[in-house]
Amino acid sequence: MHLAEVIRLRTVPQAGLLLALTQRCPLSCAHCSTESSPTAPQHSAAPLRRLVSTFTPADRPELVLMSGGEPLLRPALVAELAASARAAGTRSALLSGMFFARRAMPPAIRRAICALDHFSASIDVFHEREVDRADVFAALRQILDLVPAVSLHVTSAEPAYLDEVLAQVRRTFGERVPVLVARVQATGRARSFTAERADVDDPGPCEFANWPLVDYDGTVFACSRQSLARRHRPGHLVLGHASRDSWAELSARAQAQPVLRSVRVLGAVETARRAGAPSCGGACLTCVGLPAAAPLPDGVELVARQLLGGLRPAQLARRWGAGEHAELVELGWSHA
Ligand code: SF4
Repeated sequence: MHLAEVIRLRTVPQAGLLLALTQRCPLSCAHCSTESSPTAPQHSAAPLRRLVSTFTPADRPELVLMSGGEPLLRPALVAELAASARAAGTRSALLSGMFFARRAMPPAIRRAICALDHFSASIDVFHEREVDRADVFAALRQILDLVPAVSLHVTSAEPAYLDEVLAQVRRTFGERVPVLVARVQATGRARSFTAERADVDDPGPCEFANWPLVDYDGTVFACSRQSLARRHRPGHLVLGHASRDSWAELSARAQAQPVLRSVRVLGAVETARRAGAPSCGGACLTCVGLPAAAPLPDGVELVARQLLGGLRPAQLARRWGAGEHAELVELGWSHA
């Protein structure tokens, strides 16, 4: 499953489900959006297993994306969830910080990776202080033989770093490893040195509200900006709990919730304007303060879906901050 396909699905409500397998991570990256650490709490896997077991061929997400913390700290769970999802027809992807690249790949991690449809590695100035780029590239060469598709997620605010690392990726992997370039967001540990964007008054439709996210403790949020949803927990962003709700129930709630539908299509700022609610401190804090009833005019959702569905993955990546590097998400993609 190519990165471009994953990006396309990001615009489709309930096409994906994000699973945060653990808040633990052996690395201590300075920008970590989830504030993960080696000693963070690790919850029971039972709610995750239960929720994925409720997928059916007729009612399931297209993709589960496993992240953390570092999801490969629980390699047996990764393999089990991927197999359980696949039994219903759902594909699986995983995003790793590549801690295991520092030495030979453990067999349990190899088995977990073999169970996936897509493997993504994070690389940026912060990760490179923890794991050498040469080790990450050596591990990726092995992983290319284990999984159908591999990509890199590169986060950086420094143009010179970006140019240098992207040139090396192309020299090393040619078109085999597409790249999604993203900005450092003002979440988690990055809040200490990154400001919320003030240059965009209204970022428009919010794709973060398309895929539900299962947090470490099993709480299911409608917003994949995990640290924000967890801190504020407004009613419209909490869908339920993986220990008691099925995929069909969670998906139906996410689809029916009027505020969410409006945030997905119009964005939080426009939704607030129409509802007469205050707009304060950027789109996400505005979203947190939205009233329960935010009407969405008939037909708007359909038109918005058609407009977003017509965009190429590179156009979507540009919209999310990839800038001049947006085309790299389509490297090696054949979309007949
Ligand atoms: S606008 Fe709302 S749904 Fe979108 S990322 Fe911000 S808090 Fe989440």
